[in-house]
Amino acid sequence: MSKQQDELKLLCDLTVVKLGKKLRILGFDTEIIKTVNQQTVKELLRDTKRTLVTKSKKLANACGGILITKNKTSEQLEELFIILKNTNTQLSNNPARCVYCNEVLVDCPKEEVIGRVPVYIFETLEHFKRCPKCGKVYWRGTHLVKCKEFFASRGKETDM
Ligand SMILES: [Zn+2]
Repeated sequence: MSKQQDELKLLCDLTVVKLGKKLRILGFDTEIIKTVNQQTVKELLRDTKRTLVTKSKKLANACGGILITKNKTSEQLEELFIILKNTNTQLSNNPARCVYCNEVLVDCPKEEVIGRVPVYIFETLEHFKRCPKCGKVYWRGTHLVKCKEFFASRGKETDM
């Protein structure tokens, strides 16, 4: 039962979907399930060896994992990170993942994003990333940087 050396993998349930999406863009391998059904969650945890993140006390008691108490996503993120730090969980700097698919983003040549990003973005930025699964294009200044800046400054809620 030692999973410390493995990369942290999270499972966010219905109560923390928005938080789950933020965690993905921050590079955490995060499964999001839109249910709080105890049986479903239990089975998934067993099969995937993920750590549960939930706002449901009942579920946290039954399945273990991390109980979130805050309501705002930014505060939840902070709460989660404090818990992880206190348990000495390695917060590795993993590559960002697609908010929708949990796939690791890949570099995307600039010429491929023509017409898929706003003109001023295309003209000012050189580096883009793309989800290999759904094709969504990401760039600095959107999800990616807002979230990273949040950690640097512990700033206010950034709406994704
Ligand atoms: Zn995707």
